[in-house]
Amino acid sequence: MLNLVLFGPPGAGKGTQSQKLIEKFGLIHLSTGDLLRGEITQGTELGLEAKKLMDDGKLVPDAVVIGMISNKLDANKDAKGFIFDGFPRTVAQAEALDSLLLSKQSAISVMIALEVNDAELEQRLLLRGKSSGRLDDANPEVIRKRIKEYNDKTAPVAGFYQGQNKYTSINGIGSVEDIFTSINSVIATYK
Ligand code: AMP
Repeated sequence: MLNLVLFGPPGAGKGTQSQKLIEKFGLIHLSTGDLLRGEITQGTELGLEAKKLMDDGKLVPDAVVIGMISNKLDANKDAKGFIFDGFPRTVAQAEALDSLLLSKQSAISVMIALEVNDAELEQRLLLRGKSSGRLDDANPEVIRKRIKEYNDKTAPVAGFYQGQNKYTSINGIGSVEDIFTSINSVIATYK
């Protein structure tokens, strides 16, 4: 199985690159942000609770996203592999993901981190906010809070995979195609 963690701050291009990877490798895309937005659209209780935190730029509790990922892994038993996008976002989530995959005789193949500086991220998110309709993309204060949550809680997840020799970082600034080429060269060495 090819199990990729696509890593990086909000606005790094994880969603864009995920779409291209799905097409090329036939992987199942698991974006906890998309799954949470789906819950909000359906008006579930989980969605209502998550929305308050998301609109404020804060992470939702680990147990919520771990539960969603566990359900998706169970629902896709015959998958060739998965792209984890926006998950894991804390070390506790990374540990839980390892256990979930281990129970299915599987493991993460590699984490690929997209590196983009904070000024570029803010620009990209504000631009995306004009068309995404996402409240958390529209407000510069919320954007800065999301980047701070990333630096405080999510950046340490890189160390977790470095400890397993599964971490690679690439430059996330440039054309979509060039970045995709870099991602493919990483995958070629881990596949
Ligand atoms: P994203 O679409 O990945 O930018 O996520 C949007 C928002 O959903 C984040 O700012 C968080 O509030 C929430 N979220 C998404 N994934 C996670 C996660 N793995 N852990 C905690 N909160 C998450």
